[in-house]
Amino acid sequence: MQHVLDAIQSDASSDDFANLVIPESYRAVHVRKDEQDMWKGTPANEKDPRKSLHVGEVPTPELAPDEVYLAVMASSINFNTVWTSIFEPVSTFGPMARLGRESSWAKRHDRDYQVVGSDASGVVLKVGSAVRNWKPGDRVTVHCNHVDDQDQSAHDDSMMAANQRIWGYETNFGGLADLAVVKANQLMPKPAHLTWEEAAVNALCNSTSYRMLVSHNGAQMKQGDVVLIWGATGGIGAYATQYVLNGGGIPVCVVSNAEKAQILRNMGVEHIIDRAAAGYQFWKDEHTHDEGEWRRLGKDIRDLCGEDPDIVFEHPGRSTFAASMYVAKRGGTVVTCAATSGFMMEFDNRHFWMRLKKLVGSHFANYKEAWEANRLISKGMIHPVMSQVFALDQTGEAAFQVHHNMHEGKIGVLALSPEEGLGVTNQELRDQLGDKIHAFRRA
Ligand code: NAP
Repeated sequence: MQHVLDAIQSDASSDDFANLVIPESYRAVHVRKDEQDMWKGTPANEKDPRKSLHVGEVPTPELAPDEVYLAVMASSINFNTVWTSIFEPVSTFGPMARLGRESSWAKRHDRDYQVVGSDASGVVLKVGSAVRNWKPGDRVTVHCNHVDDQDQSAHDDSMMAANQRIWGYETNFGGLADLAVVKANQLMPKPAHLTWEEAAVNALCNSTSYRMLVSHNGAQMKQGDVVLIWGATGGIGAYATQYVLNGGGIPVCVVSNAEKAQILRNMGVEHIIDRAAAGYQFWKDEHTHDEGEWRRLGKDIRDLCGEDPDIVFEHPGRSTFAASMYVAKRGGTVVTCAATSGFMMEFDNRHFWMRLKKLVGSHFANYKEAWEANRLISKGMIHPVMSQVFALDQTGEAAFQVHHNMHEGKIGVLALSPEEGLGVTNQELRDQLGDKIHAFRRA
């Protein structure tokens, strides 16, 4: 791929890019089908992504008419790569086998390996015959909503599409690689003031938080709304916090240590709960809730801001869900996109129906929502939350850190980009924004 990198670094023309030879194989982070049972009987927290994520050459697949080959300069770790690497809650080879049955092009995805990764920034190398809006040489970021746009169900809200999938999680040829295969309707312009790695960390988490809080498909936050944000310096929480601050809401942010609390204070957050210091125990044991602890959380929120939350931004799942449903105010909304700590939920329905609350399930974002979220990054109104950068060969270690909650914000991964700091083409906006771009960066 050196010839591709040379073209990118010398700002080659679109024609030059179009004439580049696409290599027959490429370096990629992948899991192997013959290892999908390797963790049988092992507790989830002992399953080690460093052992199941392999880095090596894989063959380049053929390009479908609605796709592009992307030279990936950088990518990022999302929690879904952790799920894939520990084969939980299911092995992702099942969804790819189902995808493979849909069409002859889809069949390419069903292999004995899966290239993972659901974020990327890079340069378009070659476009399929049906691609109209993008050309070789375009600098882009990629969102992970993979839909068949010839299916009628994809044409109201594409997240409602019957065959909607997450690229690099439920499909093959993902972004943690030097090359990726991407549908043209996943492409968005790269924010010009960001480096490749800063541009690569946003799309999945930023778009998810945009839909959950801002979109009419989510909680539709308005000025003055109190929003309880679990994991407020994690991947999705860090963007959620920015949306609440930008939109005139009042964030009440939950984190688990003093360093994370300090990041939030630097961002301008006033109301912060350190859940580790507070020591909430919402479950007395595996089967028994402690309602008194829900009340204690509710009181702590009232003591901080004088009100109950209009919206709860929920994703930890089983450990917090009942408390979230309890503390949301009368008529308030709990919006959820995940269940990190367990997906079998239980809550006291009396507090839900008697107080007329709403529960909104949310999953990633449609193209329009992802585009709007990317536009806000491009305008310097929402910022990347990158804390560390790893080399592609170190992806296993990066995923291990996310698995064990050892990180803040997002972890960037360099693919073709030989070093950090490259790719900026709007230095003026970067200078104007100053430290805001680095709010999560570890010293
Ligand atoms: P992340 O970077 O690991 O952040 C999650 C944060 O949640 C952690 O930083 C932690 O913060 C907090 N947390 C973890 N376990 C908790 C618990 N038991 N109780 C309370 N807080 C807890 O992950 P992420 O990228 O934000 O993703 C979060 C979840 O959303 C994952 O399950 C992911 O798969 C899912 N997700 C879903 C979508 C979708 O489209 N449906 C999109 C993105 C992510 P503190 O320790 O500081 O409290």
